[in-house]
Amino acid sequence: MKTVTVLGSTGSIGCSTVDLLRQSGPEVSVRCLVGGRNVAVLAEQAREVGAERAVIADETLLGELRERLSGTNIEVAAGRAAVIEAAAVPADWTMAAITGAAGLEPTLASIRNGKSVALANKEALVCAGDVMLRAVKEAGATLLPVDSEHNAIFQAMADRQVDQVEKIILTASGGPFRKATLEEMEAAPPSVALKHPTWTMGAKITIDSATMFNKGLEVIEAARIFDLTEDRIDVLVHPQSAVHGFVQYTDGSLIAQIGSADMRIPIAHCLAWPRRMSTTSPRLDLAAMATLTFEAPDEVRFPALRLAREALRNGGAASAILSAANEIAVEAFLGSRIGFLDIARVVEQVMRDIGHQTADSLEEVLHWDAEARRKASFLVAAKAA
Ligand code: NDP
Repeated sequence: MKTVTVLGSTGSIGCSTVDLLRQSGPEVSVRCLVGGRNVAVLAEQAREVGAERAVIADETLLGELRERLSGTNIEVAAGRAAVIEAAAVPADWTMAAITGAAGLEPTLASIRNGKSVALANKEALVCAGDVMLRAVKEAGATLLPVDSEHNAIFQAMADRQVDQVEKIILTASGGPFRKATLEEMEAAPPSVALKHPTWTMGAKITIDSATMFNKGLEVIEAARIFDLTEDRIDVLVHPQSAVHGFVQYTDGSLIAQIGSADMRIPIAHCLAWPRRMSTTSPRLDLAAMATLTFEAPDEVRFPALRLAREALRNGGAASAILSAANEIAVEAFLGSRIGFLDIARVVEQVMRDIGHQTADSLEEVLHWDAEARRKASFLVAAKAA
């Protein structure tokens, strides 16, 4: 019997995870499900999988959660402290899928249990890489990469040594603006930027895919997970989203992982690891696809990649600053307070304003995260005025 907790169960990754748990049957027992505000979905999931505890981050929703779960034995709780407490309840396997830096402390709490943590919440690793990797080592935890590209690299690297790896290649769909002009991007409303050509995901990561900040965050994430320097991580635009990542070995061999654009595949890989489980995810019909194409990313229209590489090379608090400023800018764009291209402008300005800072402890990371949010909010307000 494997005990499981899902942080962010009501989101896109969380719902796919719960879907797989439903299919897993009695060998899986659900400890805690954690949601942000979507109390209806959380309560329904908790009943369906027979969770021991359901926690909602928004404290004002405790009464509604209690009401929706009345007549069950499911414990209920609400608030930030309850989220972190739920993450700290020992479970054999935890899905960390709260979006943004809000996932950092809960993810750290689950890592400290020393079990398996399937990591979707890339922002946590981006903003507090050293702190998280230290915690993984100290607790003897296993970090399993959920992000499709990192999961692909993880699969293509299985049992091999990093010193035999020349470089890795992360693929990117190119998003909705792959062929757009700068003028079209400048004028694009959220509704257009939210139309991802191949993946169905939460709003924040969908906008990150459109700006390519998602790929930038993934370059940083890959450097942390696979212990590679920035110059050994390439990005290729691959609009068909069939090949998720390549590992190039020192003998010239290129090993790829290929599959349909369905996050249930990498999630299932992490859930069953080191074994495999069967899924109902659509199988890729390569003959029907006929053509797979690859092209270099355009760093002029998509400055996010350049900024993320710069943050990675600079180290210290730079990645935390980039990620926090991006969260504020994405939220402002989604609220139609700034334009699409303003997202990267805000991030770059915040990076320049704050400059190089160290971030060796969680406190320092949280300090620079807050400072970047403050400066980004100020720039957003100035642009929106
Ligand atoms: P969603 O926006 O769909 O879901 C986010 C989840 O986090 C929801 O359950 C939300 O709750 C919860 N949440 C938000 N804020 C808080 C908070 N303060 N405390 C507790 N819970 C909170 O995002 P995705 O599922 O798309 O993405 C989740 C993470 O996975 C992100 O870091 C993303 O980058 C990463 N990822 C996602 C992929 C995808 O295909 N979607 C692919 C690879 C990585 P509620 O909805 O109830 O408010």
